[in-house]
Amino acid sequence: APRIFSGIQPSGGLTLGNYLGALKRFAGYQDTGIETIYCVVDLHAITVWQDPEALRNNTRQIAAAFIASGVDPEKSILFNQSQVSAHAEMAWLFNTVARVGWMYRMTQFKDKAGKNSENSSLGLLAYPSLMAADILTYHATAVPVGEDQKQHLELTRDIAAKFNHDYGTEFFPITEPLIEGTATRVMSLRDGSKKMSKSDPSDASRINLTDDADAIAQKIRKARTDAEPLPATMEGLKDRPEARNLVNIYAALTGEAADDILARFEGQGFGAFKPALADVAVEAMAPITARMNELMADPAEIDRILGKGADRADAIAHPILEQTKEIMGMIRSR
Ligand code: ATP
Ligand code: MG
Repeated sequence: APRIFSGIQPSGGLTLGNYLGALKRFAGYQDTGIETIYCVVDLHAITVWQDPEALRNNTRQIAAAFIASGVDPEKSILFNQSQVSAHAEMAWLFNTVARVGWMYRMTQFKDKAGKNSENSSLGLLAYPSLMAADILTYHATAVPVGEDQKQHLELTRDIAAKFNHDYGTEFFPITEPLIEGTATRVMSLRDGSKKMSKSDPSDASRINLTDDADAIAQKIRKARTDAEPLPATMEGLKDRPEARNLVNIYAALTGEAADDILARFEGQGFGAFKPALADVAVEAMAPITARMNELMADPAEIDRILGKGADRADAIAHPILEQTKEIMGMIRSR
């Protein structure tokens, strides 16, 4: 049966990139007869140091954001990763299947480790192995993510294929990435060559799901652009990444085609476009932010939902982990 798995790291507050590239699409998979498993991946977040109190708060905030964007904890399984120990155990098994060279090639590792990669955590290097474990411990067949996770998903497929080959089995499925929509890669508001990220040190680089209308309008007003007027079609924005990003965000927020938007703004500058974009962003995000804040007022209820989700997740993950150990030749006598 088709089964979807996707995760978000509690490494900060959510951004418009997370919303458009991932969250916004999650609820839609629930009513299609596909089993949906959504996870706040706290074990991934700690590959870069997290303040414990902030980690707790961000975990609840992301759980609230899942629910606020339409994920129903009755229809979907919603939990935090560290409550289901199969993830960490399966990651160790996959650490013996994956090759060191595969990890060093990952662009996310290179970006996050920076120049001093010898001093990054070992977990940051092994991140994709844990991600493969997240997905394959549920035999998930598809993973909805943003463009930035494509390389990691290819590695998940490589790990599944190598495991199947090494142990002469077809136990693990070869998972499909679901990278869909007009905002699979939302860029930073300060730098059109970098993706928008919740862990970017510059708050001005991103729109947070918790920003109020004034903050959103101010960040969009200050977003880096050029001095040229807008062209008639997206073709004219080929070499203008910052401008292209803003038009793509507008399109993703409204569901309107980018060329139709440009047809309205052709010949006008960003002085006209930016306020319109701010209005559209506030209108799309305000209801989600409000619902998130309501949910955040009752942290005990969020924890209860995560605990129940973890029980349901464990019921699927544990038998698959046990079968994996069996295939590898480990004695199971208790
Ligand atoms: P971090 O900076 O800590 O890595 P992040 O903003 O990249 O945080 P993740 O938790 O790593 O967020 O990713 C959660 C989901 O959001 C993934 O599916 C990822 O592909 C998607 N995503 C992240 N950033 C963007 C973006 N700029 N545009 C579209 N999708 C994105
Ligand atoms: Mg990321």
